[in-house]
Amino acid sequence: MPLSRGDLTRSAVLAVLGASGPLSRSRIAQVLDLSPATVTQVTKDLIARGMITEVTQAPSRGGRPAVLLGLVGSAGRALGAKVAADHVAAVEARLDGQVMRSWEWPFDATAVDAIDQLIDILLPLTEPGEGHAPLLGIGIGVPGAVDDQATGIVNAPTLGWQNLPLGSRLQAALPVPVLVENDVNTLAVTERLYGRGREHRDFLVVTIGRGIGAGLVVDGSVYRGSTGGAGEFGHLPVSPEGPRCSCGNRGCLEAIIGQDALLRRAREEGVLGPDATAAHLLGAADGGDNTARSLLADAGAVLGRAVSGLVNVMDPEVVVVLGEGTRGWSHWRSGFEPHLRAHLLPARRAVSVAVETWDDSSWALGGAALVLATPFDATGLTGSQGELVRARLGEALTQDTA
Ligand SMILES: [Zn+2]
Repeated sequence: MPLSRGDLTRSAVLAVLGASGPLSRSRIAQVLDLSPATVTQVTKDLIARGMITEVTQAPSRGGRPAVLLGLVGSAGRALGAKVAADHVAAVEARLDGQVMRSWEWPFDATAVDAIDQLIDILLPLTEPGEGHAPLLGIGIGVPGAVDDQATGIVNAPTLGWQNLPLGSRLQAALPVPVLVENDVNTLAVTERLYGRGREHRDFLVVTIGRGIGAGLVVDGSVYRGSTGGAGEFGHLPVSPEGPRCSCGNRGCLEAIIGQDALLRRAREEGVLGPDATAAHLLGAADGGDNTARSLLADAGAVLGRAVSGLVNVMDPEVVVVLGEGTRGWSHWRSGFEPHLRAHLLPARRAVSVAVETWDDSSWALGGAALVLATPFDATGLTGSQGELVRARLGEALTQDTA
């Protein structure tokens, strides 16, 4: 069913509030070039439908408090999943990005029936619950290159997946729209929707942990490259004689400061036993072990030099650091900061670096953000699946209008 003009105006108001956060009625009128009378009517209608609500904001300098309008988070929801080689994590999130439920399952990405396993995991989550907001879709983050969010053909060496038609297989098996994207790019979408992207058009997301990755947000959109493979920062060549990387080359950034490389060095230097994990390494550094501390500070220094190169090339307003590795940022930082600043061009030397709080559901929330960003995204990146997501939101908008 095509949307009427009134529905389109309502969608546009929701889109503006979704992308920029709460706004006053006059600001909405200005942004969408609508008359104040139209905005008053449309927002009254959306409030009555439970899609938006009045948010009172304290005045900054005396005067009356400003009345702003914001999305009602419970007006829609999305599922997000992150696929790793040995597990799948998933969340259910509201329109405002609040995580309502989260799950984790063991998973074998290299199994011949890996996609069937994934369908068995995800299908039960799509069943409509009583009193639940409309489920707009499911977004999947994978550690690899994805041709397009809607078709979702995946090349992910760490999962053993080559030209795997993940998107079409899941779309055929699940009763909701499915979007697939590189996992670091999903974090960039989350930042775009709920984080730094509300104030910045050009920013760089860097992830540290098992892998090292980057997401480039350029003029408000995630830069994907010609084949969806942009941002493979972990494979920046750092040392020609360095250790062999999972990609087959030598001396990649990830082969030097990725989690496995750090654990190997910690074992070689006698800091950790053979079965120790990243948590043990962090525990040793927190406990004052100088070898563990300098190992993480050295990793920070290598990262700082590499990020300076990216900043010099891209000229972002801010660098956002994310990933499991940020739990040890207090140790990384002592090496990172001086080495980053020393290699930046003079005009870039003051670029700000923000380290976001990280928790276990952050990766999966990225998947949900793909879906939740769809109604507010004008780039057309989400293709046919994005149209289905918008239609689902449209259905929610036109309910009870007869
Ligand atoms: Zn590599």
